[in-house]
Amino acid sequence: MPIDPTAAYDDGNVFARILRGELPCRKVYEDAHALAFHDINPQAPVHILVIPKGRYVSWDDFSAKASDEEIAHFIRAVGAVARQEGLVEPGYRMLANVGQHGHQEVPHLHVHLFGGRQFYAMVPE
Ligand code: 5GP
Repeated sequence: MPIDPTAAYDDGNVFARILRGELPCRKVYEDAHALAFHDINPQAPVHILVIPKGRYVSWDDFSAKASDEEIAHFIRAVGAVARQEGLVEPGYRMLANVGQHGHQEVPHLHVHLFGGRQFYAMVPE
């Protein structure tokens, strides 16, 4: 069910629970401000989610309210994960779904990293 990207942060969301260690994840990267783990329902041979540790509902929320330091750190973390996982040379796709039309389902900002195969249509049906 798509979420409202402008809603208040819900501490019960699944990624908040992963951050608190209440739910397991297949972690690939962690630093003081970001966590990356494999998607539970992968859409490609490599499908990793990168999330900030801060309480941000969506890209909209993050881009409006996060500090410049948080934003810079998160963008660098996404790049570091892609490099660590060997995605840069073959290439990869990254996206962030926002709200209803974006079909965002988890109300904690996450960037998807897809790799391991050729991608074609940028916006498939
Ligand atoms: P969205 O549609 O919000 O951009 O993507 C949410 C993603 O989170 C989906 O690709 C979904 O498979 C993934 N996901 C949902 N619940 C869990 C979970 O408990 N663990 C992991 N690792 N991924 C999850």
